[in-house]
Amino acid sequence: MSNKKIVVIALGGNAILKRGEKGTIEEQLVSVETTVRQLVQMVLSGKYKIVITHGNGPQVGNLLLQNEIAKDEITPMPLYVCGAQTQGMIGYMIQQSLGNVLTEHGRGDIPIAAIVTQVVVDSTDPAFTAPSKPVGPFYSQEEAQRIKEEKGYHMKEDARGGWRRIVPSPDPIKIQEQIVIKQLLDARTIVIASGGGGIPVIDQKGRLAGVDAVIDKDFAAERLAENVEAKILLILTDVDQVKLYYQTPQEKALSQITAAEAAKYYTAGHFAPGSMGPKVSAALRFVESGGEKAIITSHHNAFAALEGRAGTTITKD
Ligand code: ADP
Ligand code: MG
Repeated sequence: MSNKKIVVIALGGNAILKRGEKGTIEEQLVSVETTVRQLVQMVLSGKYKIVITHGNGPQVGNLLLQNEIAKDEITPMPLYVCGAQTQGMIGYMIQQSLGNVLTEHGRGDIPIAAIVTQVVVDSTDPAFTAPSKPVGPFYSQEEAQRIKEEKGYHMKEDARGGWRRIVPSPDPIKIQEQIVIKQLLDARTIVIASGGGGIPVIDQKGRLAGVDAVIDKDFAAERLAENVEAKILLILTDVDQVKLYYQTPQEKALSQITAAEAAKYYTAGHFAPGSMGPKVSAALRFVESGGEKAIITSHHNAFAALEGRAGTTITKD
């Protein structure tokens, strides 16, 4: 057994498709490679085994729109299938980019695998009776009404104008492919898994079935980290550190905090729901369940943060 620490790394939206970009494959590959260079430093240090997970928001949004536009010619696929498709697409970009950068460093021999990952959720999760997560295209009120009647979707007016479908965001219970992920890690493979929060599936008397829902990527990353017995959960986003009084004159960056402090600041409302909130929550869950530490930082600080020189680190005490 090697004594390398297992690190689960969650890549935020910005790592792949930057706000304001069109999202051509070339643009996405450039962004991926920038982040991958940080990850390769971790691997080359010889101290870590890494599992990479990632968001899929912009990619799945585009795919849903493609399905919508082409619906009269080609049967649209359900949201959970679009989730599987984007795991494949993004997994491909990350595995190719990792391979290229490792080869550049003379380590093209290190195996890499992207795993299409199902994440089991509970069909009685309260999220199923209170859909909250907007997905896919924007519609007019009339179109939204028609879709609601035809398909039974929940539709909600969006703050940015127009109407969108909203789906449940249930809690991830377990990573279905956790055993094969562990086996790959034991075999020194870099693993990419549970992209987009994983494909949500429910257990129906021993048979798994996909459901239209979106699992929060940060919570899925935490569950993955628990399931593969990772020591470190590294959440990469577009801010260098977690802040108190974010975007106010009293703003204060946090470098090192305990779970108790994080919980206190969370309750006081310092971390916005839907952005920093789930990251801090996931970090808390991880250290409470036995993880050594959770780190939140930006993509370009990833390696420095892992070495204790950047970011916000959360430990149990
Ligand atoms: P990701 O794609 O990485 O999940 P999100 O937009 O969901 O990105 O979350 C990161 C964002 O959280 C930052 O861009 C920042 O604007 C926001 N944020 C909210 N509260 C805080 C806070 N207290 N400290 C730092 N960033 C915060
Ligand atoms: Mg997010």
